[in-house]
Amino acid sequence: MDNFDLKSTIRTVPDWPKPGIMFRDITTLIENPDAFRYCIERLKQEYQNKNITKIAGIESRGFIFGAALAHEMKLPLVLIRKKGKLPAATLAQEYQLEYGTDKIEIHKDAIMKGDNVLIIDDLIATGGTIEAACKLVEKLQGKVMGCAFVINLPELNGADKIKKYNPFHLIEFEGG
Ligand code: AMP
Repeated sequence: MDNFDLKSTIRTVPDWPKPGIMFRDITTLIENPDAFRYCIERLKQEYQNKNITKIAGIESRGFIFGAALAHEMKLPLVLIRKKGKLPAATLAQEYQLEYGTDKIEIHKDAIMKGDNVLIIDDLIATGGTIEAACKLVEKLQGKVMGCAFVINLPELNGADKIKKYNPFHLIEFEGG
């Protein structure tokens, strides 16, 4: 299991959704049961003794890995969603995009004092999305124990931005 070639299961789509972006497509990873299981096993190994009490997945690809890991670790799963999707009382956090801003939201009653939260997304690029997610958890008085990603894009320095939240990733790709 330790030598699994995870990188080769990810499809790169150049110039999508716009010119210059190398889109790292995890649909090919999750269509491969060995690759998907490998990801969840590695994440479980990393976090099983870290006193995590809740897993929060970021919409939408973070839901896939977050849900599988929460199931495997028998932990509650919390959804952090794009604005306007969650039905009950929410807390919102704005974050910077290349042009303009966007918002993510969490249910106010999803996290509380005493929760030790692991936040998951498929990929970290600039770190803007995950930083906003960490702020949401902290505003609800949860403790961010770690942030896990399948993919890191080191050239965009996102992991440096969230060092205090203990970023962890399985693989890296060069370029942005
Ligand atoms: P950022 O906030 O810049 O760290 O962007 C991270 C979010 O955007 C994640 O939810 C990713 O799924 C998505 N994303 C950013 N860049 C890429 C990329 N090159 N390939 C695939 N997804 C990306």
